Amino acid sequence: MFRADLHCHSTCSDGSLTPLELVQLAHERDLQGLSITDHDSIGAYPAAIEEGQRLGIEIIPGVEFSTEINQHSIHVLAYAFNLDSDALHALCQRHSRRREQRNAQILENLRRHGMPITQEELMHEGVAAHVIGRPHIALAMIHKGYVQSFQEAFKKYIGEGMPCFAKGESISTAETLDIIHQAQGKAVIAHPHLIQNTKILKELLKLPFDGIECYYALYPPVVHQKWLKLAAERNWLVTGGSDFHGAIKPHIPLGCSWTPEESFRQLKP
Ligand code: AMP
Ligand code: ZN
Ligand code: FE
Ligand code: FE
Repeated sequence: MFRADLHCHSTCSDGSLTPLELVQLAHERDLQGLSITDHDSIGAYPAAIEEGQRLGIEIIPGVEFSTEINQHSIHVLAYAFNLDSDALHALCQRHSRRREQRNAQILENLRRHGMPITQEELMHEGVAAHVIGRPHIALAMIHKGYVQSFQEAFKKYIGEGMPCFAKGESISTAETLDIIHQAQGKAVIAHPHLIQNTKILKELLKLPFDGIECYYALYPPVVHQKWLKLAAERNWLVTGGSDFHGAIKPHIPLGCSWTPEESFRQLKP
């Protein structure tokens, strides 16, 4: 059966495998298609596409952006955009800058709570990464002995709403979609299962998305029905992916959720 995992992260952001290792793992897991959707970075491309051609696995460009709608965080997946688009490169840079400023705010909050981490110590956690995120901050907290585990770092300090969390500048969902479309890409609502607020979901559904991630990570089929119905009503693409991060989320295997062939073909430019 055709399976394409369209959501995973490499060492370009907060994943633990390099882009080439990811493509090789996808090949070992018998996936026919893959998209590496790093946070704010398309650094995996075009090398990942070339490795895919070598191994006979179809790779489509992808990236994941953290956007905001009515003060709520919404992740947007972009696919099959023009890799040479200046607008898309600028959007990645804008999102990365937002993240760097946000990271600095989190480090400042941690310092105030008696848990100093230098920029250098943080960079050390993601040496190869183009984009540093909270998972790297959590690793630095473990290495400095401030917490015992990744979960503890998020639960007590850096998870949303916790005392050392910082949201950073807002980049709206609408403007992010606009630029994805300028770059001839497709915009997909990431992991809709995580959107708790029905008002926010309603607002989101007014935006010109092209698809929705109906199959996600290890969520059971029962939760898919709602999203599949929604996609059918709007004639949206149905996508799926694992959100594989490697060692950072060791319980999630690559390919545990996937995109059906029909949607994959429609996504490909
Ligand atoms: P960032 O994009 O830097 O805000 O970090 C978000 C990433 O942190 C997500 O992709 C998850 O991998 C991870 N994450 C967020 N919340 C939690 C949590 N409560 N527990 C563990 N990991 C989390
Ligand atoms: Zn991540
Ligand atoms: Fe996400
Ligand atoms: Fe993700």
